[in-house]
Amino acid sequence: MWRVAAVRARWGGGAGAPRAASGAAAAQLRRWLESELEGIRGAGTWKSERIIASRQGPHLRLAGGGAGIINFCANNYLGLSSHPEVIRAAVEALEKFGAGLSSVRFICGTQSIHKDLEEKIARFHQREDAILYASCFDANAGIFEALLTPEDAVLSDELNHASIIDGIRLCKANKYRYKHMDMQDLEAKLKEAQKYRLRLVATDGAFSMDGDIAPLREICQLAQKYNALVFIDECHATGFLGPSGRGTDELLGVMDKVTIINSTLGKALGGAAGGYTTGPKPLIDLLRQRSRPYLFSNSLPPAVVGCASKALDLLMESNAIAQSMAAKTQRFRSKMAAAGFTISGKDHPICPVMLGDARLASVMAEDMLNRGIYVIGFSYPVVPKGKARIRVQISAVHSDEDIDRCVEAFTEVGRKHGAL
Ligand code: PLP
Repeated sequence: MWRVAAVRARWGGGAGAPRAASGAAAAQLRRWLESELEGIRGAGTWKSERIIASRQGPHLRLAGGGAGIINFCANNYLGLSSHPEVIRAAVEALEKFGAGLSSVRFICGTQSIHKDLEEKIARFHQREDAILYASCFDANAGIFEALLTPEDAVLSDELNHASIIDGIRLCKANKYRYKHMDMQDLEAKLKEAQKYRLRLVATDGAFSMDGDIAPLREICQLAQKYNALVFIDECHATGFLGPSGRGTDELLGVMDKVTIINSTLGKALGGAAGGYTTGPKPLIDLLRQRSRPYLFSNSLPPAVVGCASKALDLLMESNAIAQSMAAKTQRFRSKMAAAGFTISGKDHPICPVMLGDARLASVMAEDMLNRGIYVIGFSYPVVPKGKARIRVQISAVHSDEDIDRCVEAFTEVGRKHGAL
């Protein structure tokens, strides 16, 4: 009830104030919603949002105070979200091509910049063609249903991203979930799946909660042995893993063995929004005909296309930005290990500081913010029980001083709370 009062107080009850729907069904719905929300609060899994009053970058200003906060929790791995050339490209695309298309692609929503970006993505990944989506969530939601039939099988790592899990739910293929990065389990499931027409192994290239990298070489060997296709989600790899930032397949030397890549434009590649699939041309052609999030959702706005296109240009010109991020990642990981912390994963800018206890992760993250370091604690159900952690994400635009301040703050806070 107090929430209704709070809404009235906020809007003053005058013209333009939200109207509460009347009727018994609306009242019943409201009661149910309130009890669900209380349940989430009671379970301690409520996710609150901090409001940023500045651009995305290594240093932030939070709404209501908090200036000069050092940000260690964005997926802005290469620092391109506020790169001046990326912003300029967005402004130019906005001015030349307008705010948006008011249409899906196949009606009247395809501009030359969409085709150019698709061609650039395919070239970047050394694939035949690419197709854009409004997000990688959509790319993952659209691919499995369009590609796999009840005669096929999909084999998915148990820790794959939610969007892969949801995409697989939508398809009618036979579903196998193999234990996280467990090649014996994958092999057993591939044997079982021999009776089907196609087999598709689906895995994140890099897993965002642990910063660990899928054993793609072994996965591709098994795929070859059991005549399967390999799909990777490269959201946490595109732009920075591998000698020229092409991703996990480049890092592990299997670019010619992975058939399908889905990735995002909303993390390292400028950070605006958008996703894509890249792979064989007939697959991309089929997706344009059958993939529902592509067929029934608006085209990417020109400004977003402009950002991503410029980000790719910068990466194809030089790998200096990716190398700078790798050096900073190394600095953070080695200094934290020397201070006595356990950091999960290896060589990845996702650096989960393993703490175990959920409360400890939450109070330490809060205390880090008091010291000007913005990091987030993760606990069950986002990660397994007893494996709570604070996830730190390193960016190319962090300075060495930023990294050192973060390590110092962790050391102080860790000692204070008995984590060291
Ligand atoms: N796949 C993975 C592994 C992700 O981490 C994310 C984003 O969190 C997505 C897919 C969805 O990407 P997008 O934000 O482009 O929808």
